[in-house]
Amino acid sequence: MGQNRPKATDLLAWYDVHARHLPWRARGGRKPDPYAVWLSEIMLQQTTVATVGPYFQKFLNKWPTVKALAAADIDEVMHAWAGLGYYSRARNLHACAQRVAEDLEGIFPDTEEGLAELPGIGPYTAAAVAAIAFDRPATVVDGNVERVVARLFRIEEMMPPAKKIIREKAATLTPEKRPGDFAQAMMDLGATLCTPRNPSCPRCPWETVCQGRRAGNPESLPRRAPKKERPVRYGTAFWAVRSDGAVLLRKRPPKGLLGGMMEVPSTDWLEDKPVTDVLDAAPVKARWKKRSGRVEHTFTHFHLILELMEARNIGAVKADGVWVMPDKLGEHALPTVMKKIVALAMDDNEKPGPLFKARRG
Ligand code: SF4
Repeated sequence: MGQNRPKATDLLAWYDVHARHLPWRARGGRKPDPYAVWLSEIMLQQTTVATVGPYFQKFLNKWPTVKALAAADIDEVMHAWAGLGYYSRARNLHACAQRVAEDLEGIFPDTEEGLAELPGIGPYTAAAVAAIAFDRPATVVDGNVERVVARLFRIEEMMPPAKKIIREKAATLTPEKRPGDFAQAMMDLGATLCTPRNPSCPRCPWETVCQGRRAGNPESLPRRAPKKERPVRYGTAFWAVRSDGAVLLRKRPPKGLLGGMMEVPSTDWLEDKPVTDVLDAAPVKARWKKRSGRVEHTFTHFHLILELMEARNIGAVKADGVWVMPDKLGEHALPTVMKKIVALAMDDNEKPGPLFKARRG
């Protein structure tokens, strides 16, 4: 390996020995299933490999083909997705499955261009599916690959403007032979050796050609401005319990944060603590009492702090939502922040237990 340029063959030789065993990867010379590749790539957008694993298996068991997923009820898909976060992905996943099943006879397009026309598939996912499922020489640049390329070519420009240069440099590496394996090898290198802190350069197949390594500062690349602090938003959730024990849930609007998911009714979530009477936003007229404790949850763009009001023994009143018995709460698509509210609100003897293991979402 005394050459000056990184060679794809060196990375591929490393990958043949060190590839990660991931549930969506075809092994033992089998051809990848485009449905499984697409499903994993949608789930992996903004979510870690470790979190995605069980969800991927659950979806594949429930809906083993794109046609089966297309025929599923959207509420069931949202429910299965609950906890993975970024819920517009689940709606797009279902829409995309329906397009492939109905307009394309269940067969995914095998080019980046064709894939990019489908709902929920942006340029990155189109390139990843084209490369991994169809072995197209597409250049796939995720966060891991950005880091590897910035270090390999010692790109000192700040992110995000550096992205363009990184893409161009990454494209010069993509080989004609085994581009799908190469794309996955780049991701694996970034995930296992070329890590954000303390990269394992002595074990890297490109150690001798890496300019960042040679300059002695790979971990400082890619360069980023310091992160701004997340703003904090505040709100109040309303835990309404009917005299038969049922609690009030409602469905969030289809668009926007947690769109289409079920929620414990709450006020709007605002950056200033609301000065008006929070009970104006209560979902039913009742004797509301403030509960001790609060729920905190971090979304991508803000941190949320929710206080809790509760009313019990509510009689037969009309309410905007559905009344759900506590043991049936697990049948509804509750995102993680809502599960946290449920966990705080329920008395210990009411808690349904394993349904409410916290996940990020
Ligand atoms: S030598 Fe080090 S910094 Fe360079 S690509 Fe390999 S792991 Fe990353």
